[in-house]
Amino acid sequence: MADNPALSAAATRGGPVLPVFIWSPEDEGAWPPGAASRWWLHHSLASLDADLRGRGSRLLFLRGPALAVLEALVEETKADAVFWNRRYEPAAETTSAAVKTKLSDAGVLAKSFNGALLREPAEIATALGKPFQVFTPFSRAHEALPPPPVPTAPPKKFPAPARWPASGLLTDLGLLSKIRWDDGFAKVWTPGEAGAAKAMTTFVKRGLDDYDHGRDLPGRPGTSRLSPHLHFGEISPRQVHHALIKAPRHPAAASSLKRFRFEILWREFSLHLLHHFPRTPDHPLRPAFEKFPWKAPGAALAQWKKGATGYPVVDAGLRELWRTGWMHNRVRMIVASFLVKDLGIDWREGAAWFWDTLVDADLANNTLGWQWSAGCGADAAPFFRIFNPVLQGEKFDAAGAYVRAWVPELAAMPDKWIHRPWQAPPEVLEKAGVTLGATYPG
Ligand code: FAD
Repeated sequence: MADNPALSAAATRGGPVLPVFIWSPEDEGAWPPGAASRWWLHHSLASLDADLRGRGSRLLFLRGPALAVLEALVEETKADAVFWNRRYEPAAETTSAAVKTKLSDAGVLAKSFNGALLREPAEIATALGKPFQVFTPFSRAHEALPPPPVPTAPPKKFPAPARWPASGLLTDLGLLSKIRWDDGFAKVWTPGEAGAAKAMTTFVKRGLDDYDHGRDLPGRPGTSRLSPHLHFGEISPRQVHHALIKAPRHPAAASSLKRFRFEILWREFSLHLLHHFPRTPDHPLRPAFEKFPWKAPGAALAQWKKGATGYPVVDAGLRELWRTGWMHNRVRMIVASFLVKDLGIDWREGAAWFWDTLVDADLANNTLGWQWSAGCGADAAPFFRIFNPVLQGEKFDAAGAYVRAWVPELAAMPDKWIHRPWQAPPEVLEKAGVTLGATYPG
């Protein structure tokens, strides 16, 4: 509701406003929302509908394809304007263009807005007018621009139509999985605008000052956990930007603030790349990797997905993902490197698993993260640099708090051996109740 330019434009226009959600996985090409994303979407829509009802309005729930539904709705209601916020996934850009053309041709004011980015892809280019492929010059060009506009407050009123068109129920969209594997999500997440605002406030109070250091330690809550909220538009990057300007901070925390602002810019960078290189979700940005001889996935991929590889920090990450729909960034890099460089499995297998299981699954960020890890993308880690899962665990989870939380079979292992249990003396394993290959990995 806040800083939602399409909604504000509709509300200030004067006539009745019909807020519409169209469930249209067929419009998403090869990347319709995965199971964890659908869980989030369901609850986020419920929250938005409740917020609108609190202001005398409501959300219409319709089934796609988007263009056909909008044409029918315009015909039925005689709406003379349709507004929406832009998305940058290739399939969404195609749909958006088709909607704009068709509705404009029919004499309807069809207008889209920037609700998702500080700067849109077309606003930033190299001196030669080309897209950036390296983060540092991208961020410099970004920072040289004037500050992003101040976020807008939620519209106070939405004039309701004399008669609401027919709408299905949210539950009719069938977003929730019948197999309740996602029961754990509600314990850790609050989808919706209020949940997003709370995550931002909590982070400013408890995480921001130490972010530079804390962001790398998966065993404690050192990051904002804003990723699903940002993905689903429950908070805008402009709101984040301005909340950071206002945030009270310790003077010594300047490097943390800078670091966090840079992470928000990585998100901008990934959308810039996706917009300019729309084949990258399915093809490496660097063509040399197109014919890379990946191994057949087989049992190794299944063990990786289950969190049963035998490498504690890798297993902890994949189990955190399965239980909560999220994984710490440091561990995302470790598990991705392990899949691609130790197991030799195609990065697209990992990207597809993340796509289905992450509540923050985001085509731009996921593609960038996997191609970075595989060494085949923009500004990527060199292919020969391999994250050693034991040393990474010992460096970033020295006391094993993260492993103990997600791999309880190893909870009683002493710190010294928790990341390398196969090297522990037999009496240590026995005391900790660990039998390798039987109790761990199970
Ligand atoms: P914070 O550290 O608090 O960062 C704040 C925000 O900055 C994040 O919410 C996110 O929007 C943005 N951000 C942070 N790091 C990155 C990054 N490396 N790239 C782009 N944006 C970033 N992020 C997703 O949102 N969706 C994904 O599907 C996704 N897949 C990834 C896959 C791999 C293999 C890797 C290595 C990273 C992936 N990331 C993805 C990026 C990053 O791991 C998450 O954004 C971050 O862990 C989210 O937690 P947070 O909100 O607490 O982050």
